[in-house]
Amino acid sequence: MAVLRVRKYGDPALRRRAEPVAETTPDIRKIVDDMIETMYDEVGIGLAAPQVGIGLRLIVVADDDTRRARALVNPAITESGGQATAEEGCLSIPGVFAPVTRAAWVKVEARDLDGRPVTIDARGLQARVLQHELDHLDGVLFIDHLDPVTRDRLKRKIKKEGLSEDARHHAFAL
Ligand code: ZN
Repeated sequence: MAVLRVRKYGDPALRRRAEPVAETTPDIRKIVDDMIETMYDEVGIGLAAPQVGIGLRLIVVADDDTRRARALVNPAITESGGQATAEEGCLSIPGVFAPVTRAAWVKVEARDLDGRPVTIDARGLQARVLQHELDHLDGVLFIDHLDPVTRDRLKRKIKKEGLSEDARHHAFAL
């Protein structure tokens, strides 16, 4: 396993729409292993393949309680509802945090690494993590969800001060 380089804000890889995974080949399994190692190394609780420069619809998320990582292949939100606002950060935008309003609960359908269908009914933090990671697959970053005034202020701050070295001093980086 290897720790991969996490692409940072401004990298075009973060803005591309990822392609579906056709088949779980040994290469895909290796990518997942590396993504899990990278997520733990960065002390994140979720990571999407585009964040490590791989344009595939593949995410890893850490379980709420056990922190054990699971991989979701070609995940999609099939139902959602409610509204919740909470602060978010992103491993690709280290040092930047802002409250983001998202659906309070989501139903996600995906495949596991053995090709079996998986359904997840998530709420709370897990629902937020899944929405954040699925956004990455469409080239969307959490700052895109902010009101224009807050977003511009953060963009100016990034331009002026650059990004901090890492997001480790915060418990919630995705
Ligand atoms: Zn992120």
